[in-house]
Amino acid sequence: MNNQTSAVVGFLGLGVMGREMARNLAQAGFTVRAFDIVPGAGDALRPFGVEIVDDIPAAVSDADIVISMLPDTPQVDDIVQGPDGLLANPPRGKLYVDMSTIAPEATRRLSQQLAAVGVTMLDAPVSGGPVGAKNATLTIMVGGEADGFARANPFLRAMGTTLNHVGASGAGQTVKLCNQLICGINIQAICEALALARAWGIDLAQMREVLLGGSAASWMLDKLGVAMIEGDASAGFRIDLMMKDLRLVLEAAQKHPVPLPATALVATQYQNAQAYGEGANGNQALFKVYDRLTGQQTAATN
Ligand code: NAD
Repeated sequence: MNNQTSAVVGFLGLGVMGREMARNLAQAGFTVRAFDIVPGAGDALRPFGVEIVDDIPAAVSDADIVISMLPDTPQVDDIVQGPDGLLANPPRGKLYVDMSTIAPEATRRLSQQLAAVGVTMLDAPVSGGPVGAKNATLTIMVGGEADGFARANPFLRAMGTTLNHVGASGAGQTVKLCNQLICGINIQAICEALALARAWGIDLAQMREVLLGGSAASWMLDKLGVAMIEGDASAGFRIDLMMKDLRLVLEAAQKHPVPLPATALVATQYQNAQAYGEGANGNQALFKVYDRLTGQQTAATN
């Protein structure tokens, strides 16, 4: 591999998260060649020195490392197995890090296929959302070979502050899905508490402050609580993406049978939000489901 400042990163997927991560890599001094299937998706990155290219081979062929940040398993399948994909165009540095949240089983399958052409694949999903991506403070959970983790480290450090190697291929995705399970159930718990308190005429803002000082405190109550109380649906981590993650959790629990009754229940609440066309809202807007269930509304939607 080249030294850090001249190393080439092939970056695939310039959405809400990927565009910030690609920018941070360029600002850390790496040469970044980026591709997104949506034309123009990366245009705002050009002033930061990111080279926007027209197809996957142009992004990956000369890369020391390829990084992807794509919606779901089918898109990662596509950039690995498709006619332009990594199996047909193995990157020069033989290292591929998928930072999307996808199925652990698919990750293992793709990792084995890539190993057959000499490419090491790591799964490295993230937590921290668009703000963490923008500030390069993501938490990154990495599965795969230790040698690959060591080689990827300088690149991951340009995007996150907490890097953990959590096991073999697929382990990063499994830990991420456990993270999502806890987040989803926690949001649901906050929705229930806010709905009950609202029905009893409690000052919700004051209740949030009180609870943050006690054993019910959580990242969700702290960071999303105000938006929930104020009825602010503006996107952060989208309801559609959380529903995708809860589906992956439930599929994983079928593969190695583990009853997850709370996750299954929370998934139906997310489906309710999607059924009302609220999939593009941020997670905090799951509380709108309770507006419907209780016939009451938050201040902003009154
Ligand atoms: P996004 O939908 O905003 O971006 C995905 C991008 O991938 C889009 O720009 C899309 O055009 C592009 N794309 C799709 N198929 C492609 C292909 N074949 N080749 C190249 N580009 C392709 O999604 P996001 O919010 O950036 O999330 C990306 C991943 O990160 C998801 O797996 C998500 O679950 C995970 N994640 C998101 C957040 C968040 O807060 N948004 C937080 C943590 C993890």
